[in-house]
Amino acid sequence: MSIRVYNTLTQRKEPFEPLEPGNVGIYLCGPTVYKPSHIGHAVGPVIFDVIKRYLVSKGYAVRFVVNITDVDDKLIDEAAAQNTTVPELAERVTATYLDSMAKLGVDTIDIMPKASEHIGDIVSMIEKLIDRGAAYVSGGDVYFDVTQDDDYGKLSNRKQDDQTAQRDVAGEQKRNAGDFALWKSAKPEEPEEVRYKSPWGDGRPGWHIECSAMSSRYLGESFDIHGGGIDLLFPHHENEVAQSETASGKVFAKYWFHHGLTRFNTKKISKSDAEMQDALKKMDLSGLLDKHGGELMRYFLISTQYRRPIEFSDAEIESKRKGLSNFYRLFERVERTCGKTVYTDPARICTAWESAPKSEFDAFVKDVDGHAERFFAAMDDDFNTAGAAAANYELTTRINRFIEEEKLESGGSEAAKAMAYAATRKLMDLGRLHGLFLVPPESTVGGDEMVGSLMAILIDARAKAKKAKQFDIADAIRDQLTEAGVTLEDRPDGTAWRV
Ligand SMILES: [Zn+2]
Repeated sequence: MSIRVYNTLTQRKEPFEPLEPGNVGIYLCGPTVYKPSHIGHAVGPVIFDVIKRYLVSKGYAVRFVVNITDVDDKLIDEAAAQNTTVPELAERVTATYLDSMAKLGVDTIDIMPKASEHIGDIVSMIEKLIDRGAAYVSGGDVYFDVTQDDDYGKLSNRKQDDQTAQRDVAGEQKRNAGDFALWKSAKPEEPEEVRYKSPWGDGRPGWHIECSAMSSRYLGESFDIHGGGIDLLFPHHENEVAQSETASGKVFAKYWFHHGLTRFNTKKISKSDAEMQDALKKMDLSGLLDKHGGELMRYFLISTQYRRPIEFSDAEIESKRKGLSNFYRLFERVERTCGKTVYTDPARICTAWESAPKSEFDAFVKDVDGHAERFFAAMDDDFNTAGAAAANYELTTRINRFIEEEKLESGGSEAAKAMAYAATRKLMDLGRLHGLFLVPPESTVGGDEMVGSLMAILIDARAKAKKAKQFDIADAIRDQLTEAGVTLEDRPDGTAWRV
């Protein structure tokens, strides 16, 4: 089956056909590095990381570009407020952002261009727009004239009359209310480090032109996929299209993917400042990653189809924690019963499923293949990671049932063990297309020697209590451990524990 994608530009689902067969270029609008990221800033990178992994698995060569906006009015204001320089602030916030991306396992980005390092590209694009009569100089500023672009508004479906929202303080210097700045002249009070040379005097680029210039530098004047949050559709993306297509005379991006925003459950909190601040603190990306780990946050983010809003709450995270641990319990169970690790090199194609002794287990094979087909059908349908993750979750349930049916924990046939192992490897390979299960989880079982001995004492005490029919004591030990984040699992060969 071929991949179909929803394109904001045409407002419908279309077959995915890259401009150049076999090659895909993706540009995602990255962060403006003036303050720490919240969970919403992770949606785009994680989703497009999954999209790239999936396209690569289908044989495409993919170039994935995410820009860093390190020249912007917001940076100037924030640096002044923090009594620091724009480069220092940008460097510090970028470092935190990159650290978060690493924790989330977003490692497929090929290039992360910074606006401050592409002023030359930006200036030449503005010159081209002036030459074509689509931009004009006003004072030391340069504006794009929206009346010179016949199809302005085609991406967001807005007409030029609707542009009054864009009127800014420099409005009286503009020809039309909807015109937007390509270049902003330096103000006397602004620091030296944000003054760049240009034919129109010292100043800095507007935000929109940065993305137009950097995307064409690394992906060409026409490329396949442009992504970003739905909040960037207008004016940012509309203005990118206008600038790029007017400058090149070519189609800018063939497909536009807009992801949903993160919604915090605000019903329960009033709008008072302190509570809103508290809510925002809870959404801080690096704080969430420290608390929950990158894989859980990734699993949480891909559990919603990317175009839909993501509901953020502690309860949602907890439910995903349980979902994810179900996978890990299965991996442990299979490693224990089959006596070998399921973690093999992600780069190597695993053929365990293909070479498994399938003929003896027809019903199981049919079910496993069925779940895998549903996984691929969901991914082919506009990268529906939510549907695909659900199919994979059902697969864990089916494999667990097979282990019980074949009594693998207390023996069972070698052929059945090979089947359980192969099916689990298949499940893992599907999860890896979502960027999950790439490495064994950090020592969740008895990593620390001291903790291991203490756990052995508690498990022993609980076993003795049970034997003496003091079930209230046994249950209390178990409940208190659960509260502390430790799960006990009674197995035929004794009690195991995991964090
Ligand atoms: Zn952008």
